[in-house]
Amino acid sequence: MSSGKAKLLACLISILFFSLPALATSNPPAQPADLIITNARIYTVNAEQKWAEAIAIRGDRIAAVGSRKEVEPLRGPATKVIDAGGRLLLPGFTDCHIHFMEGSVNLTRVDLNGATTVAEIQKRVKAYADAHPHELWIRGMGWTYPIFAPSGLPDKKILDEVVPDRPVYLEAFDGHSKWANSKALAMAGIDRNTPDPPNGQIVRDANGDPTGALKEAGGELVASKAPKPTRSQRLEALRRGMREANRVGLVRVHSAGGDFEYLDLYNELHKRGELTLRFYIAYFLDPPGLTPDAIAKIEGARRAYQGDWIEGGAVKTMLDGVIESHTAAMLAPYSDDPSQTGKLFWDPDKYRATVADLDARGLQVFTHAIGDKAVRLGLDAYQNAAETNRTHDARHRIEHIETSAADDIARFGKLGVIASMQPLHAYPDDDTLYVWARNIGPDRAGRAWVWRSIEQKNGVIAFGSDWPVVTLNPWPGVQTALTRQTDEGNPPGGFVPRERLSLEDTIRAYTLGAAFAGHREKPEGSIEVGKLADLILLDHDLFKIEPSEIGKTKVLLTMVGGKIVYESPRWKSPPTKTRKP
Ligand SMILES: [Zn+2]
Repeated sequence: MSSGKAKLLACLISILFFSLPALATSNPPAQPADLIITNARIYTVNAEQKWAEAIAIRGDRIAAVGSRKEVEPLRGPATKVIDAGGRLLLPGFTDCHIHFMEGSVNLTRVDLNGATTVAEIQKRVKAYADAHPHELWIRGMGWTYPIFAPSGLPDKKILDEVVPDRPVYLEAFDGHSKWANSKALAMAGIDRNTPDPPNGQIVRDANGDPTGALKEAGGELVASKAPKPTRSQRLEALRRGMREANRVGLVRVHSAGGDFEYLDLYNELHKRGELTLRFYIAYFLDPPGLTPDAIAKIEGARRAYQGDWIEGGAVKTMLDGVIESHTAAMLAPYSDDPSQTGKLFWDPDKYRATVADLDARGLQVFTHAIGDKAVRLGLDAYQNAAETNRTHDARHRIEHIETSAADDIARFGKLGVIASMQPLHAYPDDDTLYVWARNIGPDRAGRAWVWRSIEQKNGVIAFGSDWPVVTLNPWPGVQTALTRQTDEGNPPGGFVPRERLSLEDTIRAYTLGAAFAGHREKPEGSIEVGKLADLILLDHDLFKIEPSEIGKTKVLLTMVGGKIVYESPRWKSPPTKTRKP
């Protein structure tokens, strides 16, 4: 080394030596925030700092959380300030079980949710048909059976009266039954001579003529004739779906089927900068199991999608059906019909082997299991996979868990299996109290949707909706988790009331628990420095109102990655004084 270079080095060392302590003690002013939300009641879902008043955001991340005084130093000349007017601010909600494309496409069709009379249905169908004169088919969803009492099934004539010239095809709210007008039946070639398809029924009147009601696979005869939505119609539907999700306070969804095949559409919106909702999208796997083609698709999606906006790497499968139709797999016979125990959709050995294979590949598994036999098999398979592969923290999930054997409840916590549940499925209406509960009898109905029991045994609960089966609006779900009563307060003491959750635990199941269920608790799920600024501001302080009022909650602002993606027309940020720094 030349002496000149040696001197230069000595000089540099001395500069470093003398300047380092000075840097450490002087604490230069932090870079100003892009946005400060102040004067808020912030419930953070962070056990270390439950409540705060103000939050600073830089880029898409949270830069500070604390009192107004603590956050104020981050205000610079260009910092925007929102005065929350003392409103409740929460982490944005995640819906852990959704069928997003299906729900979004439905938003572009006739919405029959909440219609309680034939006249109302006719009015909505006609209004839609008039507003969409170029739509070749009128499609919709959301009718319910009691409207058509006593048979419980609708008739084509009701639709013919309002739309005789174009095919009309409407799904029941549960997707199990369909309703076609005469034109749609004719286009599908369905008449009195058409035989019922396997696993389906063409409902007929006393003369043997089709009534327009179609059960299960019977609907496919008509649906297969309807044009499929085009790519641009699907993109437009997704935009509407995202707007609707943001409007009710969702910032992320976990897709449990029906979206994997449209990953490129989600990606197109992402590349255009149009995503306002984060997506975790599972591949839907049917028995008999993995094929090389399926593995290539799943692994390919995992590699291609791993950012903050779209993620692959999960697999959804179904072990059974539903209790109402005796298709949920039960350990013992149904109480109302001892000849039935339901049926597993998978051969148990094949399912266990498939789960072990997925687990060894580091893929997260979502298993739909509603009956206690299916829930047990799910737990067994996850336990077996962890033991065989020596894997840890895979966070495999069971979806729905409508009833479970008493011995299995503690296994969620013990095995680290996520309980992914949907509070509105436990809404104690007549279907729940008189059909669901009757079918499995009081003992098993006493272990209906055991949120609290699972949680008390250290299981993680993650909440969602199952949209479009029920609304994607989480607030009626929050109310149901707290009350286990209908809006009218039935049953008076609550349905299996010991399984109610506290408000704090319910919020966690939609935020930090949901983030954990998607392996995203480091960047999401609570309001903490360094996490993504995914936030919602509410019109009501949930901690100060009656649980029975929570379902009516409205979101005033939804923010994803520091950007406002929804602003209620009712929201006017109180004026803020700007200060020269
Ligand atoms: Zn589902």
